Amino acid sequence: MKVLVTGGAGFLGSHLCARLIDQGHEVICLDNFFTGTKRNIEQLLDCKNFELLRHDVIDPFKVEVDQIYNLACPASPVQYQTNPIKTIKTSVMGAINCLGLAKRVKARIFQASTSEIYGDPLETPQTEQYWGNANPIGQRACYDEGKRCAETLFFDYYRQNGVDIRVARIFNTYGPRMLSNDGRVISNFMYKAIKNEPIKIYGSGSQTRSFCHVNDMIDGMIAFMNQEKHVGPLNLGSEEELSIKQLAELIIELSNSHSEIYFESPLEDDPNQRKPDLALARSLINWAPKILLKEGLSSLIETIKKQPRK
Ligand code: NAD
Ligand code: UDP
Repeated sequence: MKVLVTGGAGFLGSHLCARLIDQGHEVICLDNFFTGTKRNIEQLLDCKNFELLRHDVIDPFKVEVDQIYNLACPASPVQYQTNPIKTIKTSVMGAINCLGLAKRVKARIFQASTSEIYGDPLETPQTEQYWGNANPIGQRACYDEGKRCAETLFFDYYRQNGVDIRVARIFNTYGPRMLSNDGRVISNFMYKAIKNEPIKIYGSGSQTRSFCHVNDMIDGMIAFMNQEKHVGPLNLGSEEELSIKQLAELIIELSNSHSEIYFESPLEDDPNQRKPDLALARSLINWAPKILLKEGLSSLIETIKKQPRK
């Protein structure tokens, strides 16, 4: 198949492009390099089945493809809050452009939605039926509400125009190619721990997350895209929930670090808990993560230690 991956030069996108190439597909990677880098996909650039397009999803585009994965959007709170208007435009106008293309060329289209659409959830674990508790005017809204609106657009194109959609709600994912300046918690903690520098926790550290290894996530995304029974939404993530303080202590232990932990004021609207209900993923695509957090973190620490120091 010919597959378009928007945001293909980012963290998840680069792993997805590589996997699709391995499976024998032709891949077009579209990216504006806001948070993605050519380095993430450098091993694919010489491959005859791989094509790179520098383009912004906010502007319309036309390519002939069989499938579209729409991943274009900064995902780290630090990155998506630097230009919030651009973030919401990317989610909303990007969705409109991708869906318009999918409609024209009759391509199946996958939306990388997010656990953030549940906001600061009042139910745990979060099932796909839960409507969420998001603040529409806070600092995270450019991302949360942009992604919520994108889901609305996907389901309206599905109902009104018969576009063949798949909407996945991706929970926190980690792995190689998260940039040292990405701003998300695992890369922040690891780069500090490896250098024995102090680790900063926002709030008390009692807020929870559950982290899925990127290899498992890519398995889930592709399996969901290629099944015929359900258009979504579908949760994809890990059930191994832990507090941010426990995460900091685990990363310090696994990297044999002497880093101290210190606490700063909590971030605005920082969700207190997050854990996916995976019942649907299990029954639909027989999927749940295989890589335990401890294993995944240890292996990522080794990968980062081997990188040249900047
Ligand atoms: P990332 O920031 O590494 O990748 C995003 C990619 O999109 C980058 O390559 C960036 O340059 C590109 N991009 C941003 N704005 C664009 C625009 N206007 N036009 C074209 N390209 C643009 O983030 P990621 O972690 O790889 O996330 C990928 C997708 O998955 C995002 O849509 C994100 O919301 C979603 N997601 C990720 C996670 C996670 O934990 N990684 C969790 C939930 C959802
Ligand atoms: N966090 C932290 N220190 C950091 C980065 C993040 O304490 O250096 C916390 C953040 O407040 C949040 C959690 O870690 O509670 C996860 O943050 P991240 O930015 O990775 O993603 P989120 O799940 O909030 O989108």
